[in-house]
Amino acid sequence: MTDILIIGGGPAGLTAAIYTLRSGASVTLLEKTGVGGQAALADKIVNYPGFDSIAGYELAEKMHAQATGLGLTTVYAQADSIERTQTGFKIGADGDVYEAKSVIVATGASPRSLGIESKWLGRGVSYCATCDGAFFRGKPVAVVGGGNTALGDALYLSRIASKVYLIHRRDEYRAAAATVEEIERCDKVEKVLSSVPVSIDGDVSVKSMTVKNVNDGTERQIEVNGIFIAVGQTPESAVLRGLVKTDASGYVLTDGRCGTEVPGLFVAGDVRDTTLRQIVTACADGAIAAERAAEYVRSH
Ligand SMILES: Cc1cc2nc3c(=O)[nH]c(=O)nc-3n(C[C@H](O)[C@H](O)[C@H](O)COP(=O)(O)OP(=O)(O)OC[C@H]3O[C@@H](n4cnc5c(N)ncnc54)[C@H](O)[C@@H]3O)c2cc1C
Repeated sequence: MTDILIIGGGPAGLTAAIYTLRSGASVTLLEKTGVGGQAALADKIVNYPGFDSIAGYELAEKMHAQATGLGLTTVYAQADSIERTQTGFKIGADGDVYEAKSVIVATGASPRSLGIESKWLGRGVSYCATCDGAFFRGKPVAVVGGGNTALGDALYLSRIASKVYLIHRRDEYRAAAATVEEIERCDKVEKVLSSVPVSIDGDVSVKSMTVKNVNDGTERQIEVNGIFIAVGQTPESAVLRGLVKTDASGYVLTDGRCGTEVPGLFVAGDVRDTTLRQIVTACADGAIAAERAAEYVRSH
């Protein structure tokens, strides 16, 4: 039986590994695809302290190498069940069963796709305005989505970009009234309602997006260099179903310090209910969850 089993090898899970290993615990990490999580998909990371700019996969490799150097065992398998036992937990993954005294779930989230953008990712299309907005200083951009995140992204980008087109499939935005009012007052934001993106065009990078009016079928080509997709995220919380409480979207409700209602089970990073989903906040969660898991193992 390992002391602590971590599910998910993104920034939260890898930071949790570094902290738990340094506390002297034995640690196993289960990762279903490749280490680094969403961070590994980022073309360039420019907001992580200590690095002016670093490729996402490179930061992920550094985090994993650091944890491996401290003694981490990484198993490439998808965790599909967690069961509480008398002595700890049994975790099912790809037909095998792992036993641990404490579990940290750091399974992250995945941005929802429009289905048309995959070849433009890192070439003008982004799922993260806070991460990539600065690359579009003085250039026209579009934000796709109509909720709080999309409108918040549009306001954030209006302070950087030359113009922001805010594209939404419905005839009104579904964000907080105060945010909608702020959008109405912002000269730099052009509202493009009742419209869905149908294609993205460009050469080495994005040059335009075509949107279709859902009422009359007319199409309009909008010249933009950046497209920010904010149509929601899907939290990867399926492995915790039935064990812990989640909000309506599936984000795990915690005690604010990565604890859950199940003693010894901690949740860190983008998969939990938090206000900012970034690498630095995922790492912070990983550290807090690790401290608590190590303390739990010591006291049981
Ligand atoms: C394109 C893009 C660019 C970004 N750029 C930046 C940036 O520049 N700066 C910044 O701060 N943030 C950026 N972000 C956000 C940042 O990457 C995330 O906030 C951060 O990675 C969250 O870390 P996490 O460890 O909580 O989850 P994730 O990074 O999502 O990692 C979760 C890991 O868990 C694994 N996993 C999921 N379910 C299971 C399971 N059942 N069993 C085993 N493994 C599982 C996944 O494969 C994944 O590796 C970006 C996000 C994207 C998508």
